[in-house]
Amino acid sequence: MMILVTNDDGIHAPALLRLREDLAPLGRVVVVAPDRDQSATSHSLTLHRPFRIHRHEEDVYSIDGTPTDCVVTAFYGLLDRRPELVISGINHGPNMGEDVFYSGTVAAAIEGTIQGAVAIAVSLSTRESTDFAEPSRFVARLAKTVVERGLIRHPLLNVNLPHRAWSEVKGVQITRLGSRTYRDTLVRKVDPRGRDYYWIGGEDAVWEGRAGTDFQAVHDGYVSITPMRLDLTDDAALQQMAAWKLEP
Ligand code: MN
Repeated sequence: MMILVTNDDGIHAPALLRLREDLAPLGRVVVVAPDRDQSATSHSLTLHRPFRIHRHEEDVYSIDGTPTDCVVTAFYGLLDRRPELVISGINHGPNMGEDVFYSGTVAAAIEGTIQGAVAIAVSLSTRESTDFAEPSRFVARLAKTVVERGLIRHPLLNVNLPHRAWSEVKGVQITRLGSRTYRDTLVRKVDPRGRDYYWIGGEDAVWEGRAGTDFQAVHDGYVSITPMRLDLTDDAALQQMAAWKLEP
């Protein structure tokens, strides 16, 4: 099996090489990651400038582009075979609820799904420096299970790991995406030359404590696994609006 490992934190993120080692028993592991932190770049593609691929060693590459560039590049010819499994992570920081729309980690997994692979995005719920050894081993075990058992459709999983000693992780919950409220602010300052500049800031988001969500599971000390699909169509609104008989 050909396994692509990528992330949005960049090629120097500590989890990458751990994943490479732990996934090796499942197949040939190739790392293709951005050459720097590309967090919150979502599903962006680099189309307005050329980019370069840097080969660090056999089967380890960095790209001066986005996480999606990395996945697309891997599928469109960098590798001699198309990956069958895409692992994106382990992100330094959670990706739950609406985060999935901003996250480069999740976007890379989504691109893997679009390309027809089994894809798993993994995030650790802390931005503090931490040990990725046990989380990485868990990802390898999960990947093995998913590949062996197969999924009905859209094999796209969004995994969030609680920040606690692995021996204190309570279990694994299969969850749905929760919801959080951001209280972002636009900060305006003046630069040394007297011109205004802006910075998006804000306080920590507040999440809704609904049972069965990724937030609740991680908060309670469980690994959260959310099976996702790409069809965002709102079926109820579709039914309702079809009855409106809108005219062109
Ligand atoms: Mn990141």
